[in-house]
Amino acid sequence: KPEFKVTLLGAGGVGKSALTLRIISGVFTPTYNPTIEDYYRHDTNIDGVGPCIVEILDTAGTEQFASMRQLYISNGQAFALVYAVDDRASFEEVKEIYQHITESKSPQNISVVLIGNKCDLDDRREVETWEGQEAAKEMCNSQFLETSAKEGTHVFKFFETLVMCLDGR
Ligand code: GDP
Ligand code: MG
Repeated sequence: KPEFKVTLLGAGGVGKSALTLRIISGVFTPTYNPTIEDYYRHDTNIDGVGPCIVEILDTAGTEQFASMRQLYISNGQAFALVYAVDDRASFEEVKEIYQHITESKSPQNISVVLIGNKCDLDDRREVETWEGQEAAKEMCNSQFLETSAKEGTHVFKFFETLVMCLDGR
């Protein structure tokens, strides 16, 4: 079975762990623990790819530990850059993270999917959909999706997109 490795990066509180748990177990957990870094081996079957194993690294504390982030980047292959649509600072942070990625990796060797999570919080939105689309274009035409880990919106599609990007290499 082919194996793929995906790394979730983004500010604390944007929903990286919630998205990961949705992918792994299909549920939403409203509790928030910002400090946990978790690694999963997910045995799955993806349309157009088939049975495969996806290693998911749900990172934590990247803003406090620049050196950790550097390590995540140098070991990573496919990156989900996650912000929350109700948090503009988190949107600025993913752009910064992308810059860091391109400093150590060439765009041909990586896959990036930009994710605007918490799209269920439309009434508290600080980042418009078009802004996410524009930012993704500037990230070497990366794919862009708005998701909600809470409602399950586009979560599997996001996961599928990321793996399919990798499979194409
Ligand atoms: P992380 O620090 O990026 O791993 O963020 P978490 O996954 O721990 O989520 C932070 C908080 O946001 C938690 O209280 C989650 O329940 C909440 N959250 C995560 N995803 C969503 C979402 O799609 N919609 C809403 N409304 N809340 C979310
Ligand atoms: Mg987390």
